[in-house]
Amino acid sequence: MTSNFSKSEEIQSEEGFIIIKLRKREDKTLMKRNPFALFIILCSVSLLLFSSTLGGKSAVSKRSDIADRYKWNLTDIYPDWKTWEADLNKLQDLIDQFVALKGTLAQGPEQVLQAMRISDEMGRAIDHVYRYASLSLDLDQRNNDINANMQQVRITWSKFSTALSWFNPELLTLPKETMMAWMDQNKDLNLYRFALSDLYRQQEHVLDENGERLLSYFSRVSSTPDEVFNALSTADIKFPTITLPSGQEVQLTPATYQGLLSTDRDRADRQAAFKAHLATYADNANTYAAIYNSILQRDWAEAQARNYATTLDASLFGNSIPTSVYENLINTVKRGTAPLRRYYDLRKKALKLDAIDLYDGRIPLVDFDKKYEYDDAVKDVIEAVKPLGKTYQDRVSAGLNSRWVDVYESEGKTPGGYSSGVYRVHPYILMNYNNTIEEVFTLAHEIGHGLHSILSQETQPYVYSGYTLFVAEVASTMNEALLLDYLLDKSKDPKERIMLLQRSIDNILGTFFTQVLFADFELQMHRMVEQGEPITAEVLSKTYYDLLKAYYGDSAELDELYRLTWARIPHFYERPYYVYQYATSFAASAWLAQSVMSPDKQKRDAALDRFTTLLKSGGNNYPMEQLKKAGVDMSQPEVVQAVLDRTNDLVGRLEAELEKM
Ligand SMILES: [Zn+2]
Repeated sequence: MTSNFSKSEEIQSEEGFIIIKLRKREDKTLMKRNPFALFIILCSVSLLLFSSTLGGKSAVSKRSDIADRYKWNLTDIYPDWKTWEADLNKLQDLIDQFVALKGTLAQGPEQVLQAMRISDEMGRAIDHVYRYASLSLDLDQRNNDINANMQQVRITWSKFSTALSWFNPELLTLPKETMMAWMDQNKDLNLYRFALSDLYRQQEHVLDENGERLLSYFSRVSSTPDEVFNALSTADIKFPTITLPSGQEVQLTPATYQGLLSTDRDRADRQAAFKAHLATYADNANTYAAIYNSILQRDWAEAQARNYATTLDASLFGNSIPTSVYENLINTVKRGTAPLRRYYDLRKKALKLDAIDLYDGRIPLVDFDKKYEYDDAVKDVIEAVKPLGKTYQDRVSAGLNSRWVDVYESEGKTPGGYSSGVYRVHPYILMNYNNTIEEVFTLAHEIGHGLHSILSQETQPYVYSGYTLFVAEVASTMNEALLLDYLLDKSKDPKERIMLLQRSIDNILGTFFTQVLFADFELQMHRMVEQGEPITAEVLSKTYYDLLKAYYGDSAELDELYRLTWARIPHFYERPYYVYQYATSFAASAWLAQSVMSPDKQKRDAALDRFTTLLKSGGNNYPMEQLKKAGVDMSQPEVVQAVLDRTNDLVGRLEAELEKM
């Protein structure tokens, strides 16, 4: 079972649209290639938009000038590189021991157990040597010695995955009944019941040797459309330079374009920039359509080859998610877009515009430029998580005060932010803290991931210590919601409250509404291919535009060029049927937050208990089952409704604040 992942979100605003883009790090490859050990989440959020516009950024410091208490402490993993090297060598021994077990599994449960245990130990060791090297490298990417050590990890990694390759095929030659009986007999082996049962379940769609060989000939071809998309949209694309109505000359790269949309108060400028930027995609619409069509055709061919009824079935099978969850999500949101429209109406009024379009969706409603010192942010985050109970709060406090976080930017340091849990050590949080409100929320978000990791790792054996993306954002977004409520309560400044409410609503638009709209689009297009209907630029544009109209109705003008938005969404090409998980995680979190913040103490305590159980459960079951235990049934409309209600509440509060101005 590979329910591990590494995620790194780069959030870019797209006129009220936020694209969460996967940064390609080696973690992704690491995860994919490991057949059963579970790795630990690495989530990264870099809110480029706000950090670039709201400012507060100081000059880049030398690392040696930063006080130790603002730097994470890697000696908690290894005291020095020598110890690291010893563990790397130990890993080599483990690999040899594991390979020696080849051909013995049929002898009995003891042999299977031994293989599982060594595999866990290898997983733990590779996790530690990899993380130590990669966390060190992220502090200074120019360091050649660390780069060389990283190379060593890669070489060992490749030996490790080769060493593992015999295991699944050999295990699966044993009848499932035999394995189940062995687990009944052997208590220690029974620990691996979920992981082993899942291997047998996954087998349902694995073909015979001949079939698998044929499919393997096409594996390189399968990744080609994504590569073509990347070449076209990054290497070959030419972004125009225009003179704005206000007289300024700008080249409209995605970064400048997004920056302009959130800072330029002249609507004519925003409109001109939008038209010129989108025209670049319009010029290549047929090429983008051909690339996307090849993705859709590939997905359908693979689904059919592996005997799935639909592409959606194929994509949800891995985590055993019922298709009704996906359908419930898109249907409930499509029916519930009223808060979104209400927000656009409010924006239009607040900005005193005659007409509003999506390119007006990013400009702040008030000018507010307060600096948030890191030490204050730490205090605020600790206070904010109080509703999650004293134990949780104490752990957040202890973590933030014992060098889990590498706070400030320094020369050579990786940009953005993430939380990386190191098994049974503690999470490491990388930030580039620049005194903006966005970074205060990033801290709350990442410490949520951190607590999720540490609770999972303490409670679960290595094999189940990682969790799926489907549940990964529950703790992080819960913390953000709590921080918002705390800061709103605390703030005496109406402008600050407006800014807080606006950024939270924009965040929900980006991580929830937009992702569900994307998910809807992906499903519709895949279904057309399944029904043998032709896919052209016109079909793609019409479907996309119809969805925009269904969401925004008359609340926004929706310029015709927005039809082309599908062409520039990397996830459509890189990770089909992936984005819906941001929305499901968000909904589960909103649903739990409702109960955690309930005025009824009994209800609150019960909800807290279930929330903690969820965080402690790691990857010990399918995500739907884990959530059910936490009282969240993702197939029910009311769970999704919790986000719609929350949005409506926030828009109402924003409206009230604006009226006071
Ligand atoms: Zn996250």
